[in-house]
Amino acid sequence: MRLYKILPDWEQNNFQLDLKRQWSLPGVNCPTCKSQWANAGTIYAATSLEGLSNSSHYTEPRNVPLDEYLELMDEVRSANPDLLHLPPGAEFGQLVGAMRGQCTDLAIYSIASLLISLGAYKKLSAILEMPGTVAINCRNREVLIDPVLELDLPFFGRLTNPTITGSPDPCASCGRVGISLPNNPVVEVPERDAAINLFRLINFPTIVVATQEFVEAYMNLGLSGLKFSEVVSV
Ligand SMILES: [Zn+2]
Repeated sequence: MRLYKILPDWEQNNFQLDLKRQWSLPGVNCPTCKSQWANAGTIYAATSLEGLSNSSHYTEPRNVPLDEYLELMDEVRSANPDLLHLPPGAEFGQLVGAMRGQCTDLAIYSIASLLISLGAYKKLSAILEMPGTVAINCRNREVLIDPVLELDLPFFGRLTNPTITGSPDPCASCGRVGISLPNNPVVEVPERDAAINLFRLINFPTIVVATQEFVEAYMNLGLSGLKFSEVVSV
């Protein structure tokens, strides 16, 4: 199976976005490894924290002591036992804010969110399986002709050769492992699931991967906004 890393095609984009996620876990100041960190790309756009008694504790991105992060994480976990993992900085809910200009058919926002116009989503969904979408809570005064949605990407597959930038063992307190993307990423996917054509890597969630079926559909439909770089798949 051929797989491709998705990259933004900035040259095509004449679109201004000023969006904020509804909720997130705070970053953490770890007393053991001394790291101050938050994970990027762990996004659960379809998960609402509205029902939590102290949902306001999740609305302001910030760093907190380890104990406070663990307490907040446990509360999210108990209400959402099916979520894969909940590192510091994990995001939940809709994007809220303003958009200006003409969006490309697809666009990457803030490193790891993949946006799609309603028109492009309908065209792609007619010929291959696509992830679900979450509406963007857009406060524009002008009404967009073609509404923009966020794709709710599943976590699937792993980067097998991340570059380790510190200790190879996770921190015993906060779980952090320092990794960066190698020049030649190798992606391992479980037994092929025909329903998954777009996904985030479980251990490197800022990397969004597309199957060859998706890339062919994108090209055949003449869509805009993305570039693709093939990765080794095993
Ligand atoms: Zn730590």
